[in-house]
Amino acid sequence: MILIVDDTPENLISLKKVLEKNNFEVDTASSGEEALKKVLKNEYVLIILDVQMPGMDGFEVAEAISGYSKARETAIIFLSAANTENKFITKGYSSGGLDYITKPVDMDILLLKVKTFYRIYEQSRKLIEIQKALLDEIEFRKQAERKKDEFISIASHELKTPLTSVKGYVQLLERSIEKGDVPTLKKHLVKAQIQLEKLNELITDLLDISKIESGKLKFNKQPFMIDALLDSVTEIIHQSNPEFKIIRTGTARKEICADEMRIEQVIINFLTNAIKYSPGTSEIHIKVEERGDHIYVGVKDFGIGIDADQQKNVFEKFYRVEETAIHFQGLGIGLYISAEIIRRHDGEVGVQSIPGEGSEFYFSIPLYSTSETD
Ligand code: ADP
Repeated sequence: MILIVDDTPENLISLKKVLEKNNFEVDTASSGEEALKKVLKNEYVLIILDVQMPGMDGFEVAEAISGYSKARETAIIFLSAANTENKFITKGYSSGGLDYITKPVDMDILLLKVKTFYRIYEQSRKLIEIQKALLDEIEFRKQAERKKDEFISIASHELKTPLTSVKGYVQLLERSIEKGDVPTLKKHLVKAQIQLEKLNELITDLLDISKIESGKLKFNKQPFMIDALLDSVTEIIHQSNPEFKIIRTGTARKEICADEMRIEQVIINFLTNAIKYSPGTSEIHIKVEERGDHIYVGVKDFGIGIDADQQKNVFEKFYRVEETAIHFQGLGIGLYISAEIIRRHDGEVGVQSIPGEGSEFYFSIPLYSTSETD
């Protein structure tokens, strides 16, 4: 939009008419003060500014406008009847004007100038947009790179820890063999196996990530009862964490058609997180419910919880809640894999949490429609 500022109504009207005839959107102000108010409210590409006005003159208006961040891109053309001396023309440019035209105005020339300024404005706007998009893209790369570096360093550390333990146990095993101490040998063997299992889990998760990335995560979907799966998962988790009581409420009498091992992986991920992020507590609740044509499974803990603004992020790849990350080991990939598994079952995954009180991680997936048991 163009703003014409002139205290002579005839000038305003005639200039407005010409510009509007040439398809420009035009606004008018009959004093410097009114112009400043309008510049604060609206965005103008160009201001055609009369120099001689009672009250604020054109130069003062231009100087004031140059201080408005909103009008940084706005071009100013001065119109002046009398002050054609060099010093006034110089003042016009130094107070922020892009051009200085003396009256009587040649409308054809003014129109050409207006069109040129418009074109320059459009081009510079496009350039600014491109620059912004480029800067955003660079920042996004940079961020991805940082995340990747961070992930590699955490992953190496996580892999190294069980590997170092296994190395230690193998040495101890060697000594026990030399001594013929079978009971100690068995103890070390069990410990080495636990560490190897940890390594196996980490590597499986890493492989899952690359399968997701390359679209190669495959599912073997079969109808089964989730209750039976929950029984066995609860048993496994309870064996390795006997201090935790896992309480189940609700039941599902209908089957789901899903990849049982992958659904087990999601539930184990929710349960191990529930234990890991709830130090000093000893209870976890599993809720199972049929909700319409879906099954709902929720794993509730009474641990550290997650801030509302971080809750949606925890399902992102490599995301770990920064404030608590130093206290708990992890790679920030378990929930990302879980979310992908549930999404590939046409389901939904989510979390409800109150910091300091606990979290409920849940998923819901469609029931198997042709296996009604009631
Ligand atoms: P990891 O636990 O290996 O970091 P996850 O993908 O399983 O990776 O979890 C991502 C992040 O979500 C965790 O780092 C943690 O900050 C947060 N989180 C997951 N489960 C819980 C929970 N039950 N309570 C509190 N925070 C959790």
